[in-house]
Amino acid sequence: MVYSKRVDSRKFDQPREIEARVGIIKRADGSAYFKIGKTIAIAAVYGPRELYPAFKQNPETGILRCNYDMMSFSVTERKKPGPTRRSVEISLVTENALLPALDLSLFPNTVIDVFIQIIQADAGTRCAGISAAAMALADAGIPMKDLVSSISVGKVGDKIVLDLNKEEEDYEEGSTDIPVAIMPRNGEISLLQLDGDVEKEELLQALKLAKKGCDEIYKIQRQALKERYGGSAQDEL
Ligand code: ADP
Repeated sequence: MVYSKRVDSRKFDQPREIEARVGIIKRADGSAYFKIGKTIAIAAVYGPRELYPAFKQNPETGILRCNYDMMSFSVTERKKPGPTRRSVEISLVTENALLPALDLSLFPNTVIDVFIQIIQADAGTRCAGISAAAMALADAGIPMKDLVSSISVGKVGDKIVLDLNKEEEDYEEGSTDIPVAIMPRNGEISLLQLDGDVEKEELLQALKLAKKGCDEIYKIQRQALKERYGGSAQDEL
C-alpha cells in the first residue's frame, strides 16, 4: 500500500515535536517530563536506598527496579488501573534498556526505583518513558556512562518512517513498529523490539533513522539537564 503523505504532514524522517524538563517532582530524588507529540511520560527516581527485604540484598551490586504504567484516562478507552501483561513487559524492557548506562556495583545492597507514568498516550509510550527515565536518573545524580535516548521507527504502508503516532500504528492492515533505545555516544542499542514484518534492508534503513531520531532526543535531553544544572550537566554525563 502506497503511503504518500503522513497523516500529520510530517516528513518521513521527522519526529513529532519534543519537549523535555527535569526536576519536576520535589519529593523524588530525580524526575523528568518528556513529551513527544501527544504522548507524555513522567519519570520519578527514588534511591539508591537499602533494599528490603534484606535477603534480597546483593553485596556486589545494587538493582534497578522499573515500574511503567499508563493512567486510566491517558487513552480514549479508559484503561483499567493496575498492572497488565503489557505493563509488566514494558517495565522489564525499560530496565534492560537503562541498565547498560549504569554501574550498579557502585551501590551494593541497594535498589533504585524508577516509576514511569504515561499521562497521555498516542503511541511510542515505552520510548518516551525510557527517555524520561534516563533524564530522571541523571537528575538524581546517579553516575551514568551516557544517557539513553529512545524513539520508535517503523513501516507504514510502503514507507519507513520515524516516530509513528497512534493513527499511523493503526494504519490500514497495521504497521510495523520498532521501538529502539540507544546510548548515543557509542551507538550501543539497548532496546530493539519489532512488532510486524520488515525486510532486512528496510530494517537497516529503519535503524539508521532511529539513530538520527535518538541523536535529536539526546540534544533535547541534555539541554533540559543543562537548563537545571548549567554547563556542568553536560560534562558529567
Ligand atoms: P507503545 O506505547 O510503546 O507504542 P504499544 O505498541 O503496546 O506500546 O501501544 C501503542 C499505543 O496503543 C499506546 O501508545 C496507546 O496509545 C495505545 N494503547 C496501549 N494500550 C492501550 C489500552 N489498554 N487502551 C487503549 N489504548 C492503548
